[in-house]
Amino acid sequence: NPGFCSIYIEKDVYLNKYPGIVIKTEIASLFHKIKEEIEDIYRDYKDKTMDVTIDKNFEDNRYYFLREVNINSLLFMPLCQDGNMYGLLIVGDRKESSFDDNISFYEAIISQLNIAVKNTQIYNKIENMARKDGLTGINNRTYFNVLYADALDETIHNDKNISVALLDIDFFKNVNDTYGHLMGDEVIKAIALIIEDISQEYGGFVCRYGGEEFVIVLPGMNAETSLPIMENIHDTIKTSIIEYDGISIQVDVSIGLSSYPELCKEPLELLKRADWSMYYSKDHGRGCITVDNDKVIE
Ligand code: GH3
Ligand code: MG
Ligand code: MG
Repeated sequence: NPGFCSIYIEKDVYLNKYPGIVIKTEIASLFHKIKEEIEDIYRDYKDKTMDVTIDKNFEDNRYYFLREVNINSLLFMPLCQDGNMYGLLIVGDRKESSFDDNISFYEAIISQLNIAVKNTQIYNKIENMARKDGLTGINNRTYFNVLYADALDETIHNDKNISVALLDIDFFKNVNDTYGHLMGDEVIKAIALIIEDISQEYGGFVCRYGGEEFVIVLPGMNAETSLPIMENIHDTIKTSIIEYDGISIQVDVSIGLSSYPELCKEPLELLKRADWSMYYSKDHGRGCITVDNDKVIE
């Protein structure tokens, strides 16, 4: 077929971070042009109409480029769920009459697409629930164990560095006791987002390890390169104002950092060393970072 077929699906529809775009055509220049234009085409279409549309008069409008590749008829079919449009199927053909009596075929495609999207939504939602902590949305400990095992494998096989930090909120019981459990939850959420944001900037990943305890993993980093990142996280947390129900508070955290292979030669002991380092911070005034060293013992 000398025409084209394309599908656009908005981001977040099935937990996708980016819009889903599929373009089928044998004309390379057309492929690139559609890829460039499809987001705008979708937006325009969604603003103007949500009806099935057959367009044959596009000498003067944005689809002029299709004439150059001898496409003379266009079919637009919206993808909708519960009355909300989330995507668009666009088909182009050389024959002007191509879609005049042929719509039911595309209607069948649309209903298959809707089912596929629904299934993907459900699948991704369940997978997400299994991997993420319900309160904060960051990785839970179960999924962290999978990520961490992979990261350690990769580190060992490629002779790389990896750093691990443990972080625990200071005097957190006081927050719960003074302001209530909901304020406590708000603090946990705020800190989870800070550590995730900053760690991901450096290719790291995090998890909620326990109630108000978090782990940060920085693959490829040694103690020297990860310490400033931990300082950044620490400063960001202690200067953040957390608001809930008209009350604003600030909290501090204690952090322990270990690193393979320079500070901890045994990869399976990394987390334990980070934990002991964190407790060293707790025992030495809290609100500080301890880098794994000989004084850090259980
Ligand atoms: P320290 O500085 O020694 O860490 O003191 P702390 O008060 O933070 O002590 P600890 O770490 O033992 O306190 C943990 C508290 O966190 C106990 C528990 O009630 C609370 N907690 C655990 N999970 C949650 C949660 O999901 N929400 C709230 N609001 N509190 C939680
Ligand atoms: Mg604590
Ligand atoms: Mg704790």
